[in-house]
Amino acid sequence: MSVTNLIRVRPQWQQELAQSITDPVELAQQLELPQGWVEQHLGARKLFPLRVTQYFVDQMERGNTADPLLLQVMPQADEFTQQPGFVTDPLEEQDNEHPGILHKYKSRVLVILRGGCAINCRYCFRRHFPYQDHHFGRAQLNQLIALVEADANINEVILSGGDPLMANDTQLDTVLTALEQLPQLKRIRIHSRLPIVLPSRLTQELAKRLQQSRLQAILVLHANHANEITPALMNALKVWSNAGITLLNQSVLLARVNDDAVTLAELSEALFAAGVLPYYLHQLDKVAGASHFSISDEKARNLEQQLRAMLPGFLVPKLVREVAGEASKTPL
Ligand code: SF4
Repeated sequence: MSVTNLIRVRPQWQQELAQSITDPVELAQQLELPQGWVEQHLGARKLFPLRVTQYFVDQMERGNTADPLLLQVMPQADEFTQQPGFVTDPLEEQDNEHPGILHKYKSRVLVILRGGCAINCRYCFRRHFPYQDHHFGRAQLNQLIALVEADANINEVILSGGDPLMANDTQLDTVLTALEQLPQLKRIRIHSRLPIVLPSRLTQELAKRLQQSRLQAILVLHANHANEITPALMNALKVWSNAGITLLNQSVLLARVNDDAVTLAELSEALFAAGVLPYYLHQLDKVAGASHFSISDEKARNLEQQLRAMLPGFLVPKLVREVAGEASKTPL
C-alpha cells in the first residue's frame, strides 16, 4: 500500500493530530502576535515543549497575547520562576509500585493508558512525569486484571494519561473487552482533554462500542474556559450523550485564564448547554514551572461563594485540591 493510501485510511482525528503546531514562532505568526513578545518567552519551550492542535488555535483571538486559550499552551518566561513548594512530582506518583497503574483510591484504579497528549497544558501536574517509564501494554493490562481480581473493593477503572483517547479505537476495545470480563467492575471512566482540543476524536464508532458495553461509561472532560465549548464540540458530544455516556467536566483554576466569577459562570452555563455537568474545580497542583498560574485558597473560596450566588447548585463545581496520599479529593 502506498504512503498516500495509508494516510487516506487514517481517521480524521489522527490526520488532524499529525498537523499539530509545535513551534511557538509559527503559532505567533498565525495569531499575529508581536515578534518581541514571542522572543521574550521562547526559552521556556525547553522546559516543556509547545504542542497544540490547529483546531484549538482556531478558537484563539488574533493579536491578543492575553487570550485565555493561548495562555494555556504558549511557553512563558514565568516558567523559569522557582517558588517554594512547587515541585516536579506534586502528587508523588513517580515512585509507583506498578508503572502505568495508580491505585490511589479504594474503589477505583487509575491507568496511565497513553503518555502523550494532543496539547501540552503549561500548568499540567504531570508536565515532568516520566511517561517513557509508564508504557501500558499487554503486560500492564495483565497486571491491572490481577490487581482488580485481588481486591474486591475495586469497582471502577479510570483511563487517564497523558490522554487515554490518544489510544486508537482498536486499542481501547482491547482494554474494554478485558475489563468487561471482570464481574466486580461496574464502571469505566475516561479522563480526557482530547475532545476539547479535537472534537473529531469523539467518533461515533467509539460511542457505539461504549454503549454496547456492560460497563457504565463516563467521559470526564477538561475545559477551563467557555471559549473551549464550540458548536463542533457540542455536536460531537450530542452523539456521545445519546449513546448513554455520562458527561462531566473538571477544570483547573488558573490565574488570568478563569480566575473570576463571571468567566467561571459562563463556563458552567456553556458546559450545561453542551450536556455536560461541571464536576470539579481544582486548585492548581503545585508543579514546578506553573506557579504563575496559582491563586490563593482565599480567592478560590471567594470565587466559589460568588458562583453559588450566581448559579443553580447543579452548575457549581466542587472546589477541591488533590493531596498526595489522600484517599479522595480534598474539599477546600
Ligand atoms: S491534556 Fe491533561 S495530561 Fe495532557 S498536558 Fe493537558 S492537563 Fe496534562
